[in-house]
Amino acid sequence: MSTKHAEAANRFIENKERETWHNETLWFVREKRDRMAMDVPEWEQLRELAGKIKMHTITHLDTYARQFAEKAEANGVIVHWAKDAEEHNEIIFKILTDHGAKKLVKSKSMLAEECELNPYLIKRGIDAVESDLGERILQLKNEPPSHIVLPAIHLTRQQVGKLFEEKLHTEKGNSDPTYLTHAARQHLRNEFLTADASMTGCNFAVADTGEVVVCTNEGNADMGTSLAKLHIVTMGIEKIVPNHKALSIYTRLLARSATGQPTTTYTSHYRKARSEDAEMHIVIVDNGRSEILGNDEHIQALKCIRCGACMNTCPVYRRSGGYSYTYFIPGPIGINLGMLKAPEEYYDNVSACSLCYSCNNVCPVKIDLADQIYRWRQNLDLLGRADKMKKIMSDGMKFLFVHPSLYNAALNVDTVVNHLPRFMIYNGLNDWGKGREMPVFAKESFTSMWKKGKVKKSKK
Ligand code: SF4
Repeated sequence: MSTKHAEAANRFIENKERETWHNETLWFVREKRDRMAMDVPEWEQLRELAGKIKMHTITHLDTYARQFAEKAEANGVIVHWAKDAEEHNEIIFKILTDHGAKKLVKSKSMLAEECELNPYLIKRGIDAVESDLGERILQLKNEPPSHIVLPAIHLTRQQVGKLFEEKLHTEKGNSDPTYLTHAARQHLRNEFLTADASMTGCNFAVADTGEVVVCTNEGNADMGTSLAKLHIVTMGIEKIVPNHKALSIYTRLLARSATGQPTTTYTSHYRKARSEDAEMHIVIVDNGRSEILGNDEHIQALKCIRCGACMNTCPVYRRSGGYSYTYFIPGPIGINLGMLKAPEEYYDNVSACSLCYSCNNVCPVKIDLADQIYRWRQNLDLLGRADKMKKIMSDGMKFLFVHPSLYNAALNVDTVVNHLPRFMIYNGLNDWGKGREMPVFAKESFTSMWKKGKVKKSKK
């Protein structure tokens, strides 16, 4: 049985050139990450600490969330609490309308994607403009991000050039990256200058100072917040870290893990509104996070700092692209978050994993990503979503394995398979064989060779 993920992945790999290029580009980022990690002798200790501090913070949110909100309010920031996506969108819309704001310039926020804020605002007459270059490209294309850090990684510069020709009236056939970046900058400058409000996401929120930290490479968050008088921050409740000491661990890990940079070009700390006649609002969102807190098997998903390293390293993600996943966050962390959000809807993503455990090894906060995916797979049957054909096959294999005489008898005749016509092996019943070739069965089994003393024992 083909899943939605498998079908979408099939469409992606139809274009071999794209598959290879996507795979190699992300592997290049993964290798950069490795070099950066190796440059820090205490890297593994940092990962260990980062995981532990996150776990400590999310399990003491009653203290830290309150402390963060109190400190932010003491700084003059207006704090809002949103229980779900709907409330998040309503609050932001109300802040904007209360200020008569018609244009909102946004820097990248996966939470805004999660809450589907843009369509909500646009439907109500607010011009929500993405200012991160990758996000803006996708907004012009009317597409969602395919990666959480490199949202337009699936597009070639030629495709971007063509899009800009059509939307920004750039020179025909010019896909020079510097030229395109200048064109985008020109276009976005106008949006910044005419915006009534700016919105940023939040990479980290420091409990004991009430400040939010936003990491970008383009300076777009700073441009937005410096020009507009109204600054709205949207943050998931799990973004809180206790203090600057803890923050310094995450800022060392984030950029290195994400893009293989020692640090992001801009790491901006926002503690209050930019001037006396300006306002800063922070919307703290739950949207299912407190339910994850109560889930012992999957609580670690809340430690995620959204670096994207698990995507860059994942052999399935690299070869099937972000759009092959049905949840808006792809890759190993997306598989888990999707299952936590709505298992009935996103269950097919759990098969998008080779269980190679590479994600566990790169995750800067040591989330047990692959273990979690494995557990979801084990529970697919309980959800009534186990693949029927696989169930029949594994029941058959189980029967064979618990009956050794039958198993040995099967081994005696297995070479017959070597002579079967191809269509009898590679057909609709054999999903496994769609992308693989079966090895040739040996004339004699290892067990039989062993018994006959044909296997040489290695000398120690
Ligand atoms: S799960 Fe880990 S590796 Fe993946 S995005 Fe989150 S922090 Fe990064």
